[in-house]
Amino acid sequence: CGIVGYVGHRNASEVLIKGLQRLEYRGYDSAGIALIKEGLHVFKKQGKVAELQKIIEGKDTTATIGIGHTRWATHGGPSDGNAHPHYSSDKKLAMVHNGIIENYDVLKKELIAKGHTFESETDTEVFLHFIEQIQKDNNIALEEAVRIALNEVIGAYAIVIVSEDAPDQLIAARKGSPLVIGIGENKSEYFLASDATPIVEYTKDVVYINDEEVAVIRGGEMKITDIKNVEKTPYIQTLEMEL
Ligand code: GLU
Repeated sequence: CGIVGYVGHRNASEVLIKGLQRLEYRGYDSAGIALIKEGLHVFKKQGKVAELQKIIEGKDTTATIGIGHTRWATHGGPSDGNAHPHYSSDKKLAMVHNGIIENYDVLKKELIAKGHTFESETDTEVFLHFIEQIQKDNNIALEEAVRIALNEVIGAYAIVIVSEDAPDQLIAARKGSPLVIGIGENKSEYFLASDATPIVEYTKDVVYINDEEVAVIRGGEMKITDIKNVEKTPYIQTLEMEL
């Protein structure tokens, strides 16, 4: 339903929680965030963002990169376990997803045959394990595995992935569900969201990712390619909206 992401110099959990609150108007049944700081940490909870805030209270959530989600359940009922972000089986990747993967049951059977187990009933967790399996089978970069996966999945999606092994990297992709990148001053920070409302208070410079494009933000640089790995020139727009 709602997606936020951040990498930069700010306290990521604060940016993410605030962003999720800005997305509350869309309606949702659960909320969660993933942060990277000496490892990948996921906090998620059925209910309002306020419930999520309760479970992170008192925990060390200082980090400068993370992703967040408000879920509107489509596959698997509302529950803590079905809330996003979801982990890969090695727990090194976490992903948030808006939309639906239509062929998830076929993919899930194939993954179970390869030894995967699942902690949720979501299509999202299947999608991430599918990406993970492609990366392991081919020994390739995560962004390449994402591109291959996107050529195989059927459905509508916006996704953002973080990897414990790349603590300055966000990988995002979309088809049918919107996703926008906010570029901070001097490219010192990047914001990601399913609509611009969580971004406007930080920057007015945005790039809307197009269908079947993959955005890789790493080391303060942003690269956008299509799913055939053809590089695209980002079209930077100036937001007119105010909060
Ligand atoms: N299909 C996913 C799920 O049920 C994502 C739903 C959403 O867009 O929030 O978890």
